[in-house]
Parts: sequence; C-alpha cells; structure tokens
Amino acid sequence: MLLGIDVGGTKVALCVGELGGALRAQRTVPMQLSGDARRDVAHLAEVAREVVAEAGLPLAEIEAVGVSLPGPLDAEGARVLNPPNLPGWHDVPVRDALRDALDGLPVQLENDANAAALAEWHFGAGRGFRSLVYLTMSTGVGGGVILDGRLHRGRNWSAGEIGHTALVWDGEPCFCGLRGCVEAYLGGRAWARRLAQVAPPEGRVAELAGGTEHATPVQVVQAAKEGDAFALQEIGRFNGHLAHTLVNLTFTLDPDVFVLGTIVAAAGEELVLEPVRRLVREHLWPRIGQGLEIRAAELGKRLPYYAGLGAALSESPSTEASSA
Ligand SMILES: [Zn+2]
Repeated sequence: MLLGIDVGGTKVALCVGELGGALRAQRTVPMQLSGDARRDVAHLAEVAREVVAEAGLPLAEIEAVGVSLPGPLDAEGARVLNPPNLPGWHDVPVRDALRDALDGLPVQLENDANAAALAEWHFGAGRGFRSLVYLTMSTGVGGGVILDGRLHRGRNWSAGEIGHTALVWDGEPCFCGLRGCVEAYLGGRAWARRLAQVAPPEGRVAELAGGTEHATPVQVVQAAKEGDAFALQEIGRFNGHLAHTLVNLTFTLDPDVFVLGTIVAAAGEELVLEPVRRLVREHLWPRIGQGLEIRAAELGKRLPYYAGLGAALSESPSTEASSA
C-alpha cells in the first residue's frame, strides 16, 4: 500500500492507494503556509496519518510514501530549495522531516512534473511503455523523462526541464530569465501575455475572456472549437512550436510515447493532437517516426492523487546504488 502526497501552492492532495492504482482513501485540504516550513511539514504528516486511518490501515502497512511538490529539489532529492509558490519554504529537509514524523516510513520526493510523468506512466496514458516523455503546458511547461523503465533525473535532479530548452535562440523572454525557451511559446502565462498584445479587441477570444487583457489559452481553445479564425491561427502556431519541441526530443531520446497534458488534453484530437502528429512525422526520418505515439494525458483532475503515488513508486538513488 502506498501513501501519496501532492503539495501545491494552495492545496494538498493525499491518498492511500494500491500498487495497481485503486484508491483506498483520499482527501484534498488547503495548503497551510504558516511561514514556518517545519510546522507546515508537521501538519502534512498529521493529515497523512488521518488519511491512512481513514483507509482502515495501521501506518506500518504503508510500504512507501511519495511526495510530489514544486521544485527545485536538491541533488539528493531530500530537500526542497525555494519554490516560488511556497512562500516561507527555503531549503526545507522535507524527506527526512516526513520520514521522522511518519515512524520512519521511506519517503520519496519528486518535483511535480516528474511525479506527473511517473503517474501517467504507472496509471495513465503511458502504461506499458518503456520510454516516455511527459510534457504539460499549463501556466508553465513541465516535463519528465522516463527512459528504459526508469525516471531520468540527471546530475542536478533537473532532467526533464524541457520547458526551458531553447526553441528560438535569444527569442521571446521567458519568466525564468532566459530567452526563447519552449515555455515562452507554449506556456499558458506566456501565451496570455501574447494574447494581451495580439488578440483582436472585438474578437471572440476577447469576448469570451471579458477583454484581451484577461485572455488565456482556455478561451483560445473554446473559440477555436467554434471555428474562430484568429483562435485557429493561434492554435496552429502552438502546434508548430509543440511539434518542433517533440521532434527535437525524438531525435535525442527516441521514446515510445509522448504524453501531453493540460492545454493539449483540453484541446483534443482534432485541434492539436492530429495536426501535431502530422507535423512531427513530416520532420522526422520515417523510420523514427513510425510507431511513435503522441497521446493526451489521461489522469486529468485525478492527477494530484496519482502524482503522489507515482512519486512513491520512483526509486531513490541510494536504493539504486545499493541494489546495483
Ligand atoms: Zn525559461
């Protein structure tokens, strides 16, 4: 039995689940940010104990605890460094603090994008594949890479930061401080910034949003589904940048499947997935493009629970080293 904890800026999703993904208990609570990270972590442990009790289990029945949380993490995966959306959290030893508060249970931390990749791999659209690249385009662009049946973390626990690979050298400014990042073209926040400048003030996107300054990809997707010309053009631009990104990743990693979340999952087959598959195939050698799967993420609103369980199923480097 696994305990999953997904820590977001405003909410925490906790669950007890079986290895096969069946949930035995689940709960979402507001994220308590007291300004004292140690107190916040102690509170998480308390709620976690309650959820385990709700599942009708003694704590000792839990085999592993997985925690999905905003990065960055340190290179040992033990500490959370300074997530912008967790004020008061600076260099917090979450792994060991939770382990101590939960009677020594093994605790595994993963950044939220890696945890989501693990979740889709174990429980969602990536089930059964050996190599998977997960990419989600919400406010920012998060990524996770599973290669040959194992999450690839890299030297700084920073692998999979696909959102900050350069799509256009010295291109659009990215919120990370660099320029031309994938996120500056595919991220929701960057797209909203662009819409404020380019969306026609009298157009359907502006109407749905209540003004161009409030426009986001949500209204672009809706207007595009209605056939609005500007929105379709914007989607076409998004598809081109997304396909470009996937082609680069395919030549680098040759994965079995791309699992694409949020905007792509919302936009669906006709608007995004089909055109992107076509563009990707056009820009790959046929031998490499053949059989490459490009799918929408499946977990949707259930993702937070499964992200915690996914993190619980990832091995820690020390486990790998001792089993090697
Ligand atoms: Zn960036």
